[in-house]
Amino acid sequence: MHGNRRTTRGLSIGVVLCLVALVPVLGLSFMAWSSMSDAREAGLAAEHTERLAEESITLAELQVAVFDEMLWSSVDSVTAAVDAPTAAIESMVGLDPHAYATQLAARTDELAIAAGRSDLVVALESARAESDLSTSIAAYDEITQSMDAPLDALLAEATSAAIATQDGEALVHSIVALRQSVDIRSLTAAVFYSLVAAVFDIRDQPSVETARLIVLRAELDETLIGLRTNPVATPEILAAIESLRSDDLAMASSAVADTLVDERFRTATPPVGQALTLTNMIEQTSAFVPALRALTVSSDISLALIDSSVGQVRSSAASVQTSADREADSALRVAIALIVSSTAAASVAAWFVIRPLRRLRRAAELLQAGADLTEFDAIAGPSEVRSAGRAISQAAGHFDLVTLQARALANGALDASVLDDEVPGGLGAALQHAVGTLRAALAQQEEFRRRLAHEAAHDGLTSVANRNASVAQLGRSLARIQRSGGELAVLFIDLDQFKDINDTHGHPAGDAVLATVAQRLVNSVREGDHVGRMGGDEFLVIAEPVTGIDEAVSVAERVLAELTKPIELSGETVCVGASIGIAVTNGGDLSADELLRDADLAVYQAKGAGRGAVVICDEDLRAELAHTVDLTNAIRNAVDSGELTVFYQPIVDTATEELHAFEALVRWRRPGHEQLVPPDEFIPFAERSRLIIDVDCWVIDAVMRQAAAWKSHPRFGGVPISINVSGRHLADDAFVDHVLAPMARHDVDPHQFIIEITESALLDDLSGAATKLQRLRDRGVRVSIDDFGTGYTSLAHLRSLPIDVLKIDRSFTASAGSNAHEESIVKLIIDTGHLLGATVTAEGIETLDDVKMLSALGADSLQGYYYARPSSSEDITDCEASRATDVP
Ligand code: C2E
Ligand code: CA
Ligand code: CA
Repeated sequence: MHGNRRTTRGLSIGVVLCLVALVPVLGLSFMAWSSMSDAREAGLAAEHTERLAEESITLAELQVAVFDEMLWSSVDSVTAAVDAPTAAIESMVGLDPHAYATQLAARTDELAIAAGRSDLVVALESARAESDLSTSIAAYDEITQSMDAPLDALLAEATSAAIATQDGEALVHSIVALRQSVDIRSLTAAVFYSLVAAVFDIRDQPSVETARLIVLRAELDETLIGLRTNPVATPEILAAIESLRSDDLAMASSAVADTLVDERFRTATPPVGQALTLTNMIEQTSAFVPALRALTVSSDISLALIDSSVGQVRSSAASVQTSADREADSALRVAIALIVSSTAAASVAAWFVIRPLRRLRRAAELLQAGADLTEFDAIAGPSEVRSAGRAISQAAGHFDLVTLQARALANGALDASVLDDEVPGGLGAALQHAVGTLRAALAQQEEFRRRLAHEAAHDGLTSVANRNASVAQLGRSLARIQRSGGELAVLFIDLDQFKDINDTHGHPAGDAVLATVAQRLVNSVREGDHVGRMGGDEFLVIAEPVTGIDEAVSVAERVLAELTKPIELSGETVCVGASIGIAVTNGGDLSADELLRDADLAVYQAKGAGRGAVVICDEDLRAELAHTVDLTNAIRNAVDSGELTVFYQPIVDTATEELHAFEALVRWRRPGHEQLVPPDEFIPFAERSRLIIDVDCWVIDAVMRQAAAWKSHPRFGGVPISINVSGRHLADDAFVDHVLAPMARHDVDPHQFIIEITESALLDDLSGAATKLQRLRDRGVRVSIDDFGTGYTSLAHLRSLPIDVLKIDRSFTASAGSNAHEESIVKLIIDTGHLLGATVTAEGIETLDDVKMLSALGADSLQGYYYARPSSSEDITDCEASRATDVP
């Protein structure tokens, strides 16, 4: 799980919230800052406007001053030219024209310097120095006009600067009022000057000046109306306009102009003005003095107007600046409020969102690490966080449950109640599925184990304990008995003629009999006694405890009585008997193996004693057993150390009485024994174990070696040799190899050899024996049935056997001569052998009568002491050599 974990490096929620809070703060701060700077700009514009206004006033005052100077210097020059007494002039116009003109000139210079127009000072000097009045006026006029454009420009600039100020409407109106005031002043002067020019020949023709006068008058009236309706017109301005309109002298000037104009149009006076002479002036005094007077008054009023307008401009600018400052202030306050409120919001978010989210994250990390989550039972905070917290807590609960379930599974505690609680989701379902599967698998495994254990300990056919379980049980019983000081008995039970049932009724019937026998055993023994099957038709009973041999025997008799009862087999009734061997602990310190061996020995004896016998293993039996063991060891030693030897007995052809074959017969040169030990004294012991196979193999090898030695012998080379083989050896898988391998090793012809098998040895496994013998015959080896007639072989069996030679047992040979019935049996056997394509050899031919009898009955070859006893190969060779030399 850890391997695949991917850590996502994301922004923390705190950072995200700060960013979210910062965006509007930045935006609003920018807005506040921009409105602050707007306000500051408006303030600067207002300041600029005010400065421009001041400049225009200065220029306007300069213009008025130049005009006044021109007027009074004209008056002064005119009065000087006509030598008019100063007093008379003074009494006429109210002041000394020369002194006044000089005063005005000084003021004009002062204003020009203040307005930054020192250039005008030079122009004014030359205008003042001009002696010709008209030329002087023209010069003054030019100076006045030269100021028109700059003044216009200044006012226009001031107006646009005022417009640039936000909410600077009042300021704009103030500038307009200023301009109007300036206009009124210059128009008043222009009206006066036009009036003079219309009368005197000082500029244009009187008619042109009259027309200009009309226009100027209209402009003056219009400007006055404009100023009066200007919204910023203060009471002072309105009062100034009013005084201009109501002043007698000022109004008289207008009236003079009007009268003059009217008269000009009525009389059609020639368009040439009067010369500007004192006489003419005096003549017109009545008209000009009031005009001059009105001009002076209106000049004063105009200046007052201008002053008032300038005040207005100043106050408007100040108010614009104030409002700009206020706006800047409020923007600053807004910015501060924003920062403070954002910080507060961030803190609130931190407290109500980020802290719970951090706890949530911690809980999720703990869950991931699998730690205990009890302290996170309830995470406070917004509902989403609470829900997530609850979900994590529940998931942790599920996680715990899953852990417990996994532990229970790992411990194999499939019954644990915790496994019944289902965790929702895929993991829970998978676990439940795993639980189900494991429960089923374990139950199956348990059942399988029980069955295996049962099968390992029980016999599948009869359901009683098998050999291993029985031996183990005997070990346990012995241990118990040794502790308690009691006795126990082992009963070895071997069924009689069970083979017959198999052969006659078939294997299923045999199986049914075995099952019935086992059941009867279980029923007949005492409660607590053990019944087991040792294999085949052998059973074992452990009777524990028993008081002694008598009780053991009574158990055996009860068992026997039960087993001899007929058994019903699907319509047929069969009878089985049994032989029983008993071994009792009898206070001795016997092991389980020793007890079993004793019981086995006893049943072996019982078998030999006939059907239905019960034999107890006693001291005699044990002595015999000890003897068997000693003998067996001695035989093994005999094989290993070359104490065995092979004798050969000739078999002669009945018709020619010539040597037909040899039978190889084993002998034992046992150390400490004077005589050779005959096979009857040790072969039966060897046959009790696989030792017989070693004996047989030794003999086969010895015979092959002898055949190889005789190979080129004139008389014995290629003579067939019969070799006896035990039934136990025939049953062994390696039997065929044991015969064929030495032939190859000694390089002898298989056709030279005959394998003798006793009739009884064949019967144990008829078909298996037939197969193996046929394999030998396929290689050329012949097969002989030994001791025929002593076993239970029906003649019918012979047909299925691969046989080349039938050997009639010695007992028949002996009895045939004296008993007609026996004779007929021998005849029957010989005829049957011939019918099956076998040759028949009669054994035990001891007398000439025997020769005649068996020859007459049809035996093909004869073997017996009559012809020769078995002798060593050396003796046979020597005898033959001497016989050969006897022959002349
Ligand atoms: P068998 O195969 O029936 O061998 C014939 C036995 O009869 C031999 O006894 C032989 O000496 C004896 N005999 C031969 N002619 C006469 C006679 O005219 N009168 C009498 N009374 N006996 C005669 P032997 O050699 O003592 O062998 C005894 C048995 O031992 C054999 O009986 C055979 O079953 C077994 N045997 C002998 N050699 C071997 C062997 O190499 N391997 C095996 N497995 N068994 C052998
Ligand atoms: Ca034989
Ligand atoms: Ca024989």
